[in-house]
Amino acid sequence: MSREHFDVVIVGGGTAGGAAAHRLSEDTDRSVLVLEAGPDFPDEIANPPAFLTGGNALGHNFAGIGAPTPETDWDYWGEPLADGRRLHHRRGKMIGGSSMVNGTIAVRAAPRDFDRWREHGAPGWGWGDVKPYFERVETITPVRRVAPEHWSPVAQMFAESFREIGYSWVEDMNAPDAWDGIVGQWPSNRKNAVRQGTLVTYVRAARTRPNLEIRGHCLTDRVLIENGRAVGVRYVDAGDGVCDVGANVVLLAGGAYGSPSVLLRSGIGPADELPALGIEPLVTLPVGRNMMEHPQCFFYAQGRPELADMTLPGWPVAARAKGDGWWSFPLALDEDTGLCAYTFALAEDTGEGLLTLTSSDPAASPRIDHRMQDVIDSDRFDHAHATFRELAATGSVTSRGAVDPEAGRPLREILQERMGTAFHPAGGCQIGRVVDDDLLVHGVESLRVADASVFPVHILNNPSLTCMMLGERVADLIKGAK
Ligand SMILES: Cc1cc2nc3c(=O)[nH]c(=O)nc-3n(C[C@H](O)[C@H](O)[C@H](O)COP(=O)(O)OP(=O)(O)OC[C@H]3O[C@@H](n4cnc5c(N)ncnc54)[C@H](O)[C@@H]3O)c2cc1C
Repeated sequence: MSREHFDVVIVGGGTAGGAAAHRLSEDTDRSVLVLEAGPDFPDEIANPPAFLTGGNALGHNFAGIGAPTPETDWDYWGEPLADGRRLHHRRGKMIGGSSMVNGTIAVRAAPRDFDRWREHGAPGWGWGDVKPYFERVETITPVRRVAPEHWSPVAQMFAESFREIGYSWVEDMNAPDAWDGIVGQWPSNRKNAVRQGTLVTYVRAARTRPNLEIRGHCLTDRVLIENGRAVGVRYVDAGDGVCDVGANVVLLAGGAYGSPSVLLRSGIGPADELPALGIEPLVTLPVGRNMMEHPQCFFYAQGRPELADMTLPGWPVAARAKGDGWWSFPLALDEDTGLCAYTFALAEDTGEGLLTLTSSDPAASPRIDHRMQDVIDSDRFDHAHATFRELAATGSVTSRGAVDPEAGRPLREILQERMGTAFHPAGGCQIGRVVDDDLLVHGVESLRVADASVFPVHILNNPSLTCMMLGERVADLIKGAK
């Protein structure tokens, strides 16, 4: 029986995958199939799913950002910390992927991020190479700033306190020089109170094209490889049927946990790891190695109830450390008690995390170990915490009656209790190690990866626009190779 065939099959219709699907289906003679493990929302304009409007929840507490539902989150949990606590590694599972559950911070990576990419095995990914693609992303993704007069009380306090300790004001945190000791308006991608993830931008604009087919609830098991060439994928459909589909090009865009998992199930990875799972090793590559994250922790500022007013956007402002070690933003946590926080996320990552399969079953969660206990036990948060203590002592904070309710508490204890991640996993299929500069998997023809898994080193801030940039660029690479 002949199997279905498409020019391009995209595994994962998320942030990068949604952008790539849009661009690749612009040419009507190219047939494109998107296989997405989570649901699609083909009538989202007429019948918006509840989570869409979460984009206006920026003043709400942290759980308010698109709170996970079993249907739209992968429910991944990290390896236990020393006290047994596990971190919830949230990932969007639907068309739009994590861009439809995220905090809508829409920032470009820094030009020097791409200098570091070039130094780490990605020579074709300098700032000049990627900037036109960021600009393209912004033609379809609304990026907005909220003027200071509309800021919430905690945001006002946050900005004033950073300026008081010598941080410079910038109007636009996407300006190439908006780094290294600055505080300013934090751009976000929201419109009509809806987060502008790829479901409602790239995919909405493309879904009626006859050459684009989107299949939700289709979980890709593995890539079909014949004579060193990707010829299609095997997936499990909504009714648990196993299906094979052929493709000239297979593009993996399953995200930092999804794409390494598909490669490993396909026999592409560390040769010593796979046979124990009943997987025949085909190509030996460091898949699932060098995983990265941005550790994050909030430090409390206890004020009067009005400080935690959530009727206005809660994080329209952020600061970037002198020396780029972290970034920070304000949070209102409880309107009844006035509990607020300064959140700090570490920008640099040691790249020592690990993703391994627990089974060859595509429905099984991988083992995810971001080595977060090492971060807790290290001095990496010391500078952020010292800066927070300095901020807590400024007149901008004390004149509002706000205090650090944990002054004197050991930092390690605070980190052990509540350090988490910024939900920014990256790596596992890195450019230079697993894929080449054109995002082609080493040793396999016609197989590419484009999503956060290909970052050679982590970027210094929030990654969703960078993932869209990758989706834009991989589409051009595929078009050029035709
Ligand atoms: C709660 C939260 C808040 C965040 N806040 C921000 C923020 O404010 N700003 C920012 O820039 N970034 C933020 N991020 C991070 C950002 O959203 C992600 O880094 C980015 O969206 C990742 O894009 P991606 O293309 O790599 O993966 P994703 O967007 O996650 O897409 C991967 C897609 O592949 C699908 N998939 C995976 N495996 C398979 C398979 N085997 N078969 C079929 N489909 C599969 C997934 O379901 C998903 O749809 C946040 C993330 C989270 C979770």
